[in-house]
Amino acid sequence: MRAVRMTAPGVLEHTEVPTPQAGPGEVLLRVGAVGACHSDLHILDAPAGVFPIPMTLGHEIAGTVDTVGPGVDGWSPGDRAAVYGIIGCGRCRACLRGEENRCRVIPVGGIGLSRDGGLAEYVVVPASRLLPVGDMDLTQAAPLTDAGLTPYHAVDLARPRLRPGTSCVVIGIGGLGHMGLQILLATTAVRIIAVDTNTAALDLAGRLGAHHSVQAGPDAVEKIRELVGPAPDGADVVLDFVGAQPTLDTARQVVATGGQILLVGLAGGTLPVRPVADEPPPVPLETGVVVPFWGTRAELHEVIALARDGRLHADVHTFPLAEAPQAYEALRRGEVRGRAVIVP
Ligand code: NAD
Ligand code: ZN
Ligand code: ZN
Repeated sequence: MRAVRMTAPGVLEHTEVPTPQAGPGEVLLRVGAVGACHSDLHILDAPAGVFPIPMTLGHEIAGTVDTVGPGVDGWSPGDRAAVYGIIGCGRCRACLRGEENRCRVIPVGGIGLSRDGGLAEYVVVPASRLLPVGDMDLTQAAPLTDAGLTPYHAVDLARPRLRPGTSCVVIGIGGLGHMGLQILLATTAVRIIAVDTNTAALDLAGRLGAHHSVQAGPDAVEKIRELVGPAPDGADVVLDFVGAQPTLDTARQVVATGGQILLVGLAGGTLPVRPVADEPPPVPLETGVVVPFWGTRAELHEVIALARDGRLHADVHTFPLAEAPQAYEALRRGEVRGRAVIVP
């Protein structure tokens, strides 16, 4: 079969590999669509030894069951499914609670992270990772599994602070951010301030229903402050889907005293939190900082329900498998709006 694999750090190749077979408890899925997540660029940029090489990338997968391995109940060839990408140990207290995104044994284990992913014609996944999507378009279903699930989980962590009339600053209206906006609109009654460097991303935010848009830049903090109030007042919640130094600096300068920063993006910035006597604190007092990771299977079920009810829709741009490397280059250059989705 054809697959797009990381064959060396930074190198993505469209190549031929043997079609894998489903083992006990596994399913061979014919990939219908796979989202190009910015995390794949971080994986490509990681030094040798951090991720397996060679490895087929792609952790945002939807497809159709081709064959089922021994011992698989409840799934048959032809069934359509989204893939929950995390594979926890299944035995620790977090996994037993259904919080595999907090597994205490395998912190970042998953399909397309620690074993072959979905940028291929077929992928083998444990049957327990499949969730039914009914007749949903698979290019819509794939982004739900990460670009939808991760902001859904982050919003849920912030939910106690997201009361009606509060304000939420959303930084980075890309794959995750544009879904996060819709999740906020569908599940909370907050005022949303969208922030991005890119005017096309801000246009998308406006079309999706963001109440205010602010272009990232030197005067962004001042503009956001005009909308959320002067310190010690400010934004109740800041969702940072970028995580670069300028966005983290914006986050800490606009969050309210007692507010919360959710650091979802992995762009490598640093958020200082330690207060020093006689200096202005780097974050307001009582600020909560959370570092969300992906989400749970139950949350993915809820995300799929939102989408099937028409309240969550990915802005999708499709690419054939052979053009996946170009799709990632476009993502790196910041040229993708919404989500690039590869259709093998
Ligand atoms: P994306 O490239 O689709 O979107 C990023 C958006 O941020 C773009 O709209 C871009 O214009 C904007 N942006 C870039 N720099 C900015 C700046 N300085 N200020 C304001 N906006 C800026 O990326 P994505 O796929 O949505 O992923 C976003 C981040 O989230 C990545 O770092 C990714 O690795 C990370 N991620 C984390 C998790 C998790 O579980 N924590 C899960 C998935 C992705
Ligand atoms: Zn991802
Ligand atoms: Zn575990």
